[in-house]
Amino acid sequence: MKIIQNGTLVTPKGLYDLSLAIYNGKIVEIGEITPKEDDEIIDASGCLVFPGFIDAHTHLDLPVGGNLTADDFESGTRAAAAGGTTTIVDFATQYEGDTLLNALDTWKRKAEGKAHVNYAFHMAVCDWNDNARHELKALREAGVSSLKVYMAYDTALNDAEILELLEDAKKYGFIVGCHCENGSVITNRQERLKAGGRFGTDAHPLAHPAEAEAEAISRFCYLGKLSGCPINIVHLSTRLGLQEVKKAKEQGVKVYVESCPQYMILDESKYELPDFEGAKYVCSPPLRRAEDIYALREAVIVGDIDTIATDHCSFRFDTQKNLGRDDFTKIPNGCPGIEHRPVIMKKIFGDQISAMDYCRLMSSNPAKVFGMYPRKGALQEGADADITVWDPGVKWTIRANDMEQNVDYTPFEGLKVEGRPRFVFVNGELAAENGRSTDIHMGEYVRR
Ligand code: MN
Ligand code: MN
Repeated sequence: MKIIQNGTLVTPKGLYDLSLAIYNGKIVEIGEITPKEDDEIIDASGCLVFPGFIDAHTHLDLPVGGNLTADDFESGTRAAAAGGTTTIVDFATQYEGDTLLNALDTWKRKAEGKAHVNYAFHMAVCDWNDNARHELKALREAGVSSLKVYMAYDTALNDAEILELLEDAKKYGFIVGCHCENGSVITNRQERLKAGGRFGTDAHPLAHPAEAEAEAISRFCYLGKLSGCPINIVHLSTRLGLQEVKKAKEQGVKVYVESCPQYMILDESKYELPDFEGAKYVCSPPLRRAEDIYALREAVIVGDIDTIATDHCSFRFDTQKNLGRDDFTKIPNGCPGIEHRPVIMKKIFGDQISAMDYCRLMSSNPAKVFGMYPRKGALQEGADADITVWDPGVKWTIRANDMEQNVDYTPFEGLKVEGRPRFVFVNGELAAENGRSTDIHMGEYVRR
């Protein structure tokens, strides 16, 4: 057995100075444990012992307009482990003409044998048709409990399709996430900005107004209300969007909210940086204003945000972001973050949120919302031994040349941070130590 000793166990309800024993990939005992001779002792003194963190929004090995993300399941999950994340939920994408089950197979093959952490898949449905409708039951049986739809981009469904999908999704117990932005508003703005000679990164936030997010959130919430299906607003980024969620909740809509660290610490002034540096921050929705950062932080503190994910979608600055040097609409959208989410959240909130709340946002809530609890997201006997032993005292600086993410920059470059995982266990094996991968691939597909 491995015995984690001298640390403080964290659950959403409290802190406990107890030991924890791991055997055969599971947590087998929690309490005052007297080690036996051949037990391996893990010293967690001074550390908080969390159920491993879950990042329920990542894009690894994803083709976007002829570009493949810089991180695949090898480097992306290696970076996840290094930062303290033990399970990710990535997106399998059903493109036009494909079936849902084939899309799931395609993404499973991308991850198999490569993953340092556990992985599950949301199914992004981009071609809603009779065949897809009939596959929902089999998809649920294949361990997928969440769907995703887009209201923008060429992957978008129209409102009627989304409503039909929600109605069928409810029958089989799915939760449905949505990229909430009004696609035609964005496309129209991009065209008009370019017609007016605006091709730089500073035009990106102008093409994605907060109102386009809030309007789409409102519309998706009403479709959720009509269908009765539980819904999830992914990467919510604005104060206006939060207001729409509040209205929906007052009407009894079963709506969950995800946000991401980048929207709570970086603002849209990054798009005005010279030398095309703004491209490093081009993601959708874009970074927002100070008032949005303030509103999102407050929402986290009062409990209006359920889960924190990264939307990790990395593209190299030198060769990939560069494709949009003369036209901001050609910049591949997305930022890296899978490695730094835990420490950035700590940086943003410090002691404003308790270790228990932190545990809820980073681990137990995503496990519950996405159908993995208590196998994941809980420190209890019988749960999988996915454990993050967090050392709050370590001071360090985020540097692209000193990280596991396979990309040539980080939007958090130079940020001084505190805290780092001393040990990260995935299915009972040491996947990372002191912020570095151990090169052990213990990740398995998580049926939900
Ligand atoms: Mn999105
Ligand atoms: Mn995304």
